[in-house]
Amino acid sequence: MNNDNIEKQIFELLQEIDSFVGIPGFEHEEFILQALHEAIVAIKNNNFAIGAIITNSFGKIVAKGQNKVFNPYHRSDQHAEMNAVTNWEKKIANKLINLEPAYIFSTLEPCPMCLSRLLSSHVKCIYYAVPDEFGGMARKKENLPKIWKEFMKNRVIQEANCSPKLKIYCKQIFELSDKKIEISGLWKELK
Ligand SMILES: [Zn+2]
Repeated sequence: MNNDNIEKQIFELLQEIDSFVGIPGFEHEEFILQALHEAIVAIKNNNFAIGAIITNSFGKIVAKGQNKVFNPYHRSDQHAEMNAVTNWEKKIANKLINLEPAYIFSTLEPCPMCLSRLLSSHVKCIYYAVPDEFGGMARKKENLPKIWKEFMKNRVIQEANCSPKLKIYCKQIFELSDKKIEISGLWKELK
């Protein structure tokens, strides 16, 4: 598949997502939709299409993050969840007393780096739209070292309750960004 073909598919998918307003009846629909908007920014900037948002317990968005691994330059730590947590921690700096619970919603299952970071942060609940069978750690969390497993106590780590249609969009946009990056050759060097 060539680049023009990928760009065409991305264009068509973004048009379809643009007219999607979410399906009522799913608790996390609006949050995952917001995370997907971050993923859209990421793919437009030639990064992996993964987005994340952090909310407080009233459902207000307190931080956003998107993948920035390749653009503007290669930064191995610039995953969506990492950026969302960094943005949130800047806001709560020196305000840890009586900190209200925070919830993260991401479009893709967190990788080992992001899950470990989240477990050592003050984020209480971790929700992701789509499992990542190749790089996800959330479903393999029992394999973490002892101290990280202790950090999991009293936390929620699970798939988000959003519509199947929204999950498909999160998966499709990530896969298209993955193909686009593969064609660009940027990622090949690291595999
Ligand atoms: Zn990650």
